[in-house]
Amino acid sequence: MTNKRKVAILGATGAVGQRYIQLLQGHPWFEISVLAASERSAGKKYKDAANWLMETELPKEIAEMPVANIDVVSCEKTGDFDLVFTSLPGDLAGPVEAEFASLYPVFSKASAHRMEKDVPLIIPEVNADHVELVKVQQQRRGWKGFISTDPNCSTIQMAITLKPLMQFGLRQVVVTTMQALSGAGYPGVASLDIIDNVVPFISGEEEKMETEALKILGTFENGAIKNADFKLSASCNRVNVKDGHLESIFVKLDQDPSIEQIEAAFEDFRGAPQLLKLPSAPAQPIVVRHEKNRPQPRYDRDTGKGQSVVVGRIRKDPIMTFKYMCLGHNTVRGAAGGGILSAELYVANGLA
Ligand code: NAP
Repeated sequence: MTNKRKVAILGATGAVGQRYIQLLQGHPWFEISVLAASERSAGKKYKDAANWLMETELPKEIAEMPVANIDVVSCEKTGDFDLVFTSLPGDLAGPVEAEFASLYPVFSKASAHRMEKDVPLIIPEVNADHVELVKVQQQRRGWKGFISTDPNCSTIQMAITLKPLMQFGLRQVVVTTMQALSGAGYPGVASLDIIDNVVPFISGEEEKMETEALKILGTFENGAIKNADFKLSASCNRVNVKDGHLESIFVKLDQDPSIEQIEAAFEDFRGAPQLLKLPSAPAQPIVVRHEKNRPQPRYDRDTGKGQSVVVGRIRKDPIMTFKYMCLGHNTVRGAAGGGILSAELYVANGLA
């Protein structure tokens, strides 16, 4: 690719926005040209607006960049751009993303538009063919750009592991999550609520997992998504871990594959990003650990630079067919890393 695409990040000062900035450093196809956030941050230099939380240094040129307010006019005044990454609170994202999408491709981490019939909900390894839905959206809405959404962070890692299981006839899934603090954004959960504690409720999370997975694993037929036909029940918890969601997943299948067949299905799984050699694609989307006490967030969340999902403890179950543990980095694969991979997929398909 000769000319890099210029990108705007809306919500650039938050937990996900910061991860976008970190992961886009040195990206071969994209360069950051606009950073935008709320009125609290607008008009300041980025280093004064954001409390930088990443493990790497804040890049010098980003530190000095001005932060724009999150509207098209203010962003266009601050710099020119070709596409938009958004990581805004859900309620705000609805109208703001629609305004940008009338002109630009928008890649959203927010929930606002995910379940709309003409909006793709993309995990590049799982449903790359759903990107074509943006053509239906553009025609219907008369937009020059479009909105493509990424699923909720807990859904992404689970759905990547469910995809290779569909060959065995997926019938029922029961998932319990142990979700990291960075999933609640910054400053997120108050320390006195989470130290020495587990919070057994995350607003809206169970509903998102139960509905989004069916759309993602569905089929794209005659210009529309037909939901996958299986049942899913989710129970979501916040735990005292910085990054990395751990999930305990029970699965009922039509067939009764051996543990070796299940492991092979996970390990051999590849998708469009690997075939297309997209810049942010992990070599292996699902990595299987064989130790009896893995995966663990602290040791395994950075597998494949945070873009791989790690599974382990694969074993038979007396009620369901089998069960396993699944770990993903929520702000990399579950957020900015997933968003960048989606945008790469659209570029590779000539859609952005
Ligand atoms: P966050 O840390 O709270 O950041 C929110 C961002 O939105 C900040 O840049 C903030 O700017 C901006 N913002 C807040 N209110 C605004 C307003 N009224 N007008 C304009 N900008 C405003 O949240 P986050 O964790 O990054 O999450 C962002 C989105 O990604 C959410 O929809 C979340 O559900 C989704 N998501 C998060 C994760 C995760 O692991 N954290 C994973 C997947 C999806 P200021 O700094 O100026 O306030």
